[in-house]
Amino acid sequence: MTTQLLPGNPPVTVRVGLLEGYERVTFRCSGRYRIETRSGELLREADSSELKWRLLREKSTPTRFLYSVLVASFQKRDEAMALAEQFEEKGFSSAMRQIGGPIEIEGQVIGDNTLYRVQVGNFQEENDARELLGKLELDYAPRLVREVLVQASGKLELFDQSLEQHYESTDGFRLVPEETTARMTLFGVRMNSGFSYEPMEDRMYSGMIEFYVDHEGDIAALTEIPIDTYLRGVVAADTNSDLPPEAMKAQAIVSRSLVIATKTVKHLNDPYDLCAHVHCQIYSGVTHQSDSVNEAVTATRGNILFHNGSIVDAHFTQVCGGHTEDVQATWMTPPMYLGRGVPCDCTGTMDVPDLTSEGGARRWIQSRPKSCCNLDGVDLPAGKSFGRKHFRWETTLLRSEIEEILLTKTGIDIGMLYDIVPIRRGRSGRLMEVDILGSLSNLRIKRELRIRRLISHTALESSAFLVEVLCDSQGNPMELVLTGAGWGHGVGLCQAGAARMASDGKRAEEILAHYFPDCVIDKRY
Ligand SMILES: [Zn+2]
Ligand SMILES: [Zn+2]
Repeated sequence: MTTQLLPGNPPVTVRVGLLEGYERVTFRCSGRYRIETRSGELLREADSSELKWRLLREKSTPTRFLYSVLVASFQKRDEAMALAEQFEEKGFSSAMRQIGGPIEIEGQVIGDNTLYRVQVGNFQEENDARELLGKLELDYAPRLVREVLVQASGKLELFDQSLEQHYESTDGFRLVPEETTARMTLFGVRMNSGFSYEPMEDRMYSGMIEFYVDHEGDIAALTEIPIDTYLRGVVAADTNSDLPPEAMKAQAIVSRSLVIATKTVKHLNDPYDLCAHVHCQIYSGVTHQSDSVNEAVTATRGNILFHNGSIVDAHFTQVCGGHTEDVQATWMTPPMYLGRGVPCDCTGTMDVPDLTSEGGARRWIQSRPKSCCNLDGVDLPAGKSFGRKHFRWETTLLRSEIEEILLTKTGIDIGMLYDIVPIRRGRSGRLMEVDILGSLSNLRIKRELRIRRLISHTALESSAFLVEVLCDSQGNPMELVLTGAGWGHGVGLCQAGAARMASDGKRAEEILAHYFPDCVIDKRY
């Protein structure tokens, strides 16, 4: 399917999953929309109306999946083949899957995100795959993956409020705007906040919207929009509208590069490239548009980060804590750009100890180094929201609380928790591997995000932390005090540091040159 681009629109579009898992959806169109089935059969000519529509799901059948355990991904086919063969020799069924491919803009290849994934096991039941995952956990950083065996199907029914118009389709519906000012409001969109009380909001979108039956057999919606329309939405959600303009521009370039570099390898089972939640980036359409964000996206139109002629999968983090982290230390998927962590240093005078050593990490986390993202005494509006309280933080958890969290999240009962022992730290002091010592069993946890999630009800602010165990009079552990630095994975652009640099008069190019050494900005559309 192609979308006709209006003159002046970028040559890159993104398909964004807006919602999933609804039994009914209510929406209102404002402006001219035509209604088609998803395969393009015209159901209703465009006319200008403010009609409110309701969409219902008739009976449906959910998707059937095959489950397996992803153990590693490689950029080189040979390496993936070799590992897959090793598993075969040990008696596991294993498969190599190729994902991604060349990345093109206007017929020009600007990078390649091809990956060869090694998947072990092949199960119709998710629990069987989970069991295997548990066994592979010590030697790999495994992840459960699923692939569609039989796609969900079902019938959707669309009617207007006055019940004068009624359409049915087993193929889903597509609403296509025929003027640039047309907007659609979806009522009661769940914000997927992760809280048990699910907040909802009405969200307004520009661009084509498709409704279809999702994997659960419920109603889902997606939109296909020019990338800059998407960026206006996500940069507004990810940053403060009171960020200095040059920091906003740097963020727009980073987000644009990341989206183009990774959109084809994120949602392999879905009819869209990116979801509208934190997993990809929060997208709420034109609901929360801000002029300053729109200006930053427009001013950087087509600007993409490159390294050695290849697009950079550029990441960003809220507060690095004083030093950014190596890309390859953080993700199990090989990155396209092997960015090394750098001191988040505005003055070039900061003294950084070796943060991979326990002594160095301790001195660092217990002090407040004068890094860009240390906003002590800096009068920056953005500092209020993400700077100060996350630069250094402390949280106390009951021993029993952590035991319960571990049991809930891993299914493993470690007995009485004795200690959390650092095994390996990355360049920014972030823990990449820890041992959790218990009376019944010990647990080795790898990867910074997994560490942050398993020692917290939600997730710790970062994995750059120190552990102090407080014991009762008998010497039994009672509480664990975690003292930490930074907020987020620490890779790429430090948003708080960028805000500081911009307020000190640095331009977006200079900010990006600092966090992405040896990279250049090139305008490609
Ligand atoms: Zn996603
Ligand atoms: Zn920083």
